[in-house]
Formats: sequence, C-alpha cells, structure tokens
Amino acid sequence: MVSILGTILNHVLTYWKACEMIQVHQISFSYDELSVLEKVSFRVERGEFVFLVGPSGSGKTTLLRLLYADLVPIGGDLSVAGQPLAELNKINLPYFRQKIGLVFQDFKLLTDKTVKENLALPQKLIGTAPRLLKDNVNELLHQMGLSHHQNARPAEISGNERRKLAIARAIINKPLLLLADAPTEGLDLRLSLEIMALLDALNFQGMTIFVATADRKLAEKCNKRIIELRDGAIHWDPSSPSI
Ligand code: ADP
Ligand code: MG
Repeated sequence: MVSILGTILNHVLTYWKACEMIQVHQISFSYDELSVLEKVSFRVERGEFVFLVGPSGSGKTTLLRLLYADLVPIGGDLSVAGQPLAELNKINLPYFRQKIGLVFQDFKLLTDKTVKENLALPQKLIGTAPRLLKDNVNELLHQMGLSHHQNARPAEISGNERRKLAIARAIINKPLLLLADAPTEGLDLRLSLEIMALLDALNFQGMTIFVATADRKLAEKCNKRIIELRDGAIHWDPSSPSI
C-alpha cells in the first residue's frame, strides 16, 4: 500500500515539475566585480504570462541571458522548459534553444536580408520542408501585417514593423516559451498595447510569455503577474508560489 502511494506521489511530483516552465533557485551573477543578481528565486508555470519589471540597469537583460543559457550563473541553479541548465552541453544546447523564442532588445535582425528571408531563416535552420516553410512564412507575414513589406530590408520598414518582425522570427518555430526583452521600448502607449495584444494572443494559444520591461505602468495595465527586480533581488512577486 505504502509503495503504491509512493509511486502515485512520484508521478504527481513528476507531472507537477513538468508543468513548470522556469525554475530559478537562488541564482547569483556578477560581471567581474559588478554583482548584478543575488540569490534570485522565482518560478513560472507553463502557460503563464509574466512581466519582469525593474529600472534600467537592474539586471533584466542579464536574467534573460541566464534563462537562455547565454550566461552561466556563479551560484544557484535554474531549469527552463524542463531542462536543468547545468546539464547543458554541445549536444543538447541546440535542442534546448529550439524550445525558446527570443526577442532581443536591439532586435538582431539581419540587415542585408529581406523581411521574408529574416523570417524564413529559423525555419531553414530546423530543416522545414520548403513548401511548409513558404506557407508558415506567408501566414505569419499576413498575421503581423508585414506582407506588403516582404521584400524590403529591415532598414526600409518602420521601428514598429521591425519589432513585429523580431517577434515573428522568434515565434515561427512555435517555441514553448517566448522571452521578450523590452519589446515596447520607445513606443507610445497605442503601439505598446498593440504589441501586448499580439503577445496575449500567443499566450492564449498556449505559449508561455516572459517579458522584461522598465515600463511598470504598461505591465500593470495588462493585468498580468509582475515580478519586480530591484538592487539585484526580487523586490515584489505577490503571486509567487513559495520557494
Ligand atoms: P537592464 O536590462 O535591467 O537594464 P542589464 O542586465 O543590462 O540591466 O545590466 C545590469 C547591470 O550590469 C548594469 O549595471 C550594466 O551596466 C551591467 N552590465 C550589463 N551587461 C554587461 C556586460 N556585458 N559587461 C559588464 N557589465 C554589464
Ligand atoms: Mg535591458
């Protein structure tokens, strides 16, 4: 009887852990002498939409870089999309990265490629069949209102269109988790809300969304969970499960 209960408990525990998209436990990070994060802990469940807010320089980009294993913490451990990051190696890193969509603060679009080519690249990298690739690219161009700019280069479209292209490129391979770094920076409220509505629609389809922003007011307007980073630590996370 005890062993059956133990097995059931084990299954429940495994399922519960699998439900978590991000587990950050007591992580610390420094750039040489500069300590940026100190014993930061939080969890994000699958399907959540979470804002990471904090003033400029509070460590939001650094935290995102830790989450997609671009940086390694000096202490603590973290697990993203079911992958303990300490166990990443050359073989499983590409598979891990495929589960995550990244919207960079500076977009990182390929300036010498067209809008369409920028969007097609992630699909080519995972070996999508040409016909399916074409359909996926056209569908997303249409969804983002970028069809008429498909042959333009990033410099020839507006800042907001570049942002939409960066989001489209991040989601074309249908990641489990979208990490977006300051996706509304420099936009007025109307355009910011337009971008947020876009992210909300992706969340509605099941994608977990994690947005870093210095714009706390915008985050509050969106009525989602907010984690606040201040002086290298979590300052405010009212809906956090106990760690
Ligand atoms: P945020 O995204 O919240 O503005 P960052 O994570 O970019 O904050 O930066 C946190 C701190 O780390 C800042 O003091 C910044 O100057 C510093 N920093 C960021 N990137 C580097 C780097 N590559 N080398 C050294 N210091 C850095
Ligand atoms: Mg930043």
